[in-house]
Parts: sequence; structure tokens; C-alpha cells
Amino acid sequence: MKFVLIVLILILGVMIMNCKENNLTEMEKYVIEKKGTEAPFSGKYVEHFEDGTYKCKKCGAELFESSGKFESDCGWPSFDEAIAGAVKEIPDKDGYRTEIVCANCGGHLGHVFTGEGFTDKNVRHCVNSVSLDFSAKTNEAKAYYAGGCFWGVEYYFQKLDGVKSTSVGFMGGKTENPGYYEVVRGSTGHIETTEVVYNPEVISYEELTKYFFEIHDPTQVDRQGPDIGEQYRSVVFYATEQEKETTLKLIDILKKKGYSVATVVQAAEPYYKAENYHQDYYLKKGNLPYCHSYEKRF
Ligand SMILES: [Zn+2]
Repeated sequence: MKFVLIVLILILGVMIMNCKENNLTEMEKYVIEKKGTEAPFSGKYVEHFEDGTYKCKKCGAELFESSGKFESDCGWPSFDEAIAGAVKEIPDKDGYRTEIVCANCGGHLGHVFTGEGFTDKNVRHCVNSVSLDFSAKTNEAKAYYAGGCFWGVEYYFQKLDGVKSTSVGFMGGKTENPGYYEVVRGSTGHIETTEVVYNPEVISYEELTKYFFEIHDPTQVDRQGPDIGEQYRSVVFYATEQEKETTLKLIDILKKKGYSVATVVQAAEPYYKAENYHQDYYLKKGNLPYCHSYEKRF
């Protein structure tokens, strides 16, 4: 009896964990999970031409850029290129077509055809609208970095081209709306964090993150210069899998150059802005940071 109960609890647990992925409509399940096909000219992205990125409906992975979308008159959204590594090709069960699935979650997308002469690339990813989500291109994105005293980190990011605005605050702790002195005492687990609002058309996340590794010493553990404590540790808070991969790639490059990088790469959590007197600290004071300086590392 006890064993049956444990098995039931385990099954329930797995069901709850899969809840997000299975939060699909019947039509979405039919196409994405059962490899069905939506009726031609019925999907919402057939005649959709906006700047942005098409993502997997099931898992949110980025699959196609709008730059690769073209008018094919086939009745389904058509792309002549997928984002590198995002789409997997497998032989279709019908024995002659090539099926395409999301490389991340295996969700069915459609089929890929070559040699039809639609575009120079001569490829047509024929995708069900139902398998896709679209996010429009914006010229504003946010990134979160912690690298010691946030006054110094903000000072350097403010000087960078493509950065639209910055603020300092706290992330990664256990409480809501922490105050500076609670964080300094180390009782909340928060880390001094800088929010960087930037224009991805001017500066990429990769360039921004490279710069982060050059304006603080990423080899210091739970401190930065004279500031000692977990609230000063080096952290990149990523918002997407792509940001995570970019950061890990950069850390790998630094490690190969001999740096024993202590930077933690963790998922972003709610960001709480710090008190006003911490914002633009060096800009208002007119002096230079005591604990940060720029050093080329890439
Ligand atoms: Zn997916």
C-alpha cells in the first residue's frame, strides 16, 4: 500500500511538472504532439509580416527570424532559414518528406522542402502557425548583472554606447522589497544588482556581457575588492536560455585564458530597485569608483 502511494505521488509530481508544457489547446496538441497539420490558409501567421522572432509554442525556444519569412502561397508560414541549431530535421514516417521539430522540446513544426526555387537559399520550412508564437522586435531589452558594489557597476554601464538607462537594486534573495541595510547585513540573501536597459540594435547581449566581465574581477569569490560578503558576489542573471548560453560561452573563453571564473550564472528573479540615494551614485558625486576599473579580458 505504501509503495502504491509513493508511486501515485511520483506520478502526480511528474504531471504537475509537465503542466506548463501541456498547457496547450486541443488543436495545438493535435499539431505539436500528434504531428497533425492545420488547414492551409487558416493559420494566423500565414499572412503575417512583422519584424520579430517566431518561437516554439510549446517551450518558447526561438526558432525563426522574420527576416527569413517569405510569401509562398502554400498556405502555411514559410521560412528559408531557421535559427542555427533551433530546428531538427527527421525523416517523416511517410517515407519521402522531412519533418521538422523544435530541437529543444521535440514539438512538431511541419516539414522542410528544398529545390523549389522560392528564394536564393532554395529551402522552405513549411510551419504550422499553431506551432508558433511571435514576439515583435523591440529596441529595448533588459539585462541584470551583479559584480560587487552596484555603484561601480552602474557607473561603467552608464558609459557604454547602446545603454539607454540603468538602475541599481537587488536580486536573488528570499524577501520582497528589501532595504539596503537588510541586504548589507546579509540576512535576505539578495545580491547588489544593476539593471541595464539597452538597445539590442546598437549593442548585443554578448557585447554587454563581455563588458561586464571586464569592469569587475570575475575571479573573486563572494567579494569584490574591499567589499566582502555574498551580496557582492559575481552573478549574471539570465532571462532566456540564449542569454544563459552566451554567458557560459564567454566564461568558457575566460577559463581557457586562465581565469578561474567565480561568476555564478543563474535565472533572473524579481528585481527590487534600491533607495534613491544609491541611483547614479558616482554621476551625482562626480568622482570615480573605488572598487571597479576597466581591464580588457577578451
Ligand atoms: Zn519547443
